[in-house]
Amino acid sequence: MIVTRFAPSPTGYLHLGHAHSALVGWHSARAESGRFLLRIEDIDPTRCRPEFEAAILEDLAWLGLDWDGPVRRQSEHLADYAGALDRLRAMGLIYPCFCSRKDIAAAVTAPHGPEGPVYPGTCRNQPPDWVHARQERGDPYALRLDVAKARAISGALAFTDEREGVVEARPETLGDVVLARRDAPASYHLCVTLDDHLQEVTLVTRGVDLFHATHVHRLLQAILGLNVPTYAHHLLLTNAAGERLSKRDGAMGLRALRQAGRSAAEVRALAGFPT
Ligand code: GLU
Repeated sequence: MIVTRFAPSPTGYLHLGHAHSALVGWHSARAESGRFLLRIEDIDPTRCRPEFEAAILEDLAWLGLDWDGPVRRQSEHLADYAGALDRLRAMGLIYPCFCSRKDIAAAVTAPHGPEGPVYPGTCRNQPPDWVHARQERGDPYALRLDVAKARAISGALAFTDEREGVVEARPETLGDVVLARRDAPASYHLCVTLDDHLQEVTLVTRGVDLFHATHVHRLLQAILGLNVPTYAHHLLLTNAAGERLSKRDGAMGLRALRQAGRSAAEVRALAGFPT
């Protein structure tokens, strides 16, 4: 049975781009009598707010979307992520990184990847004494995946995208990604991969802006022994200037459209799903 999901972060109100993404997942599931799940990606305590989560649930219901089973909130499953980090630590595949964003941007050796500077590996092979001393001092650190080591275990990998076909996974283009943040117990990459497995998602529908992330997720699936869903990375809706929609495009917000008197059917049509 097909299982899809919509996984917004409650860091703002939903806009037409989110509606498009949710509708892609909902239609894919409903067309085949499958399940459509809703997951709230609220791992970031500094940016997520309960009022945004309440607004997301309300806006989706207004739009006419229903979901199956209870909503999964990532903040309620920290033990799952900690367990995965323990396994990766036991395999020697993660290391503490004390570098700030500024340090990374300033590193002359940092190559540029599809999402900005790639981590140059400053903390990858530091002596245990140095690491210990910094931890003792209380210096904040993230945990990064040692992609080269993980690749040595996983070997060649591929995933299937409904538009692109079989894609060879190249996680090294994003470098040693963060799996636990300085200010949050886990990162997007770790949580999303584990949750899609635990929720038995079979088709991950999401924007093409996350295509590079999928390469990393495929590697995590291989080393953690997780299910490998099929992917459908959809194109992003754009505003009048041809830029992808963001939370700044207030007029494209579902609440703003609703307050301006648009019906749910009209908004679904604006989001690419005329009925
Ligand atoms: N939480 C992510 C976002 O709002 C989406 C994650 C995903 O669909 O994989 O951008």
